[in-house]
Amino acid sequence: MLKKKRIFTVIVTILVILALLSSALFIAVQADHHCSGGHCSICVQLHICQSVLHLSALLVSALASLALSSSLRLRRDQHVRAALTLLTLVTCKVKLSN
Ligand SMILES: [Zn+2]
Repeated sequence: MLKKKRIFTVIVTILVILALLSSALFIAVQADHHCSGGHCSICVQLHICQSVLHLSALLVSALASLALSSSLRLRRDQHVRAALTLLTLVTCKVKLSN
């Protein structure tokens, strides 16, 4: 099951990278496009490619901010855990002999 999940992840990643590269390549090739009219199929395709690139940029920035926030939360939790372990009775060498 885990192997199938990894294979699926690799295939989806490759497809996303291909979509991004083909979109960027199409925009670069059609950069000097001379529009033929109102229903130009190349302009429609250019718009779709730009949308794909914008959405992927938004997705990458969202994932980066999520990773950064989780990393900061993990670091904060480690500091709190370290502070709590320093304040035990054993570490403070308190003897309770009442
Ligand atoms: Zn056009």
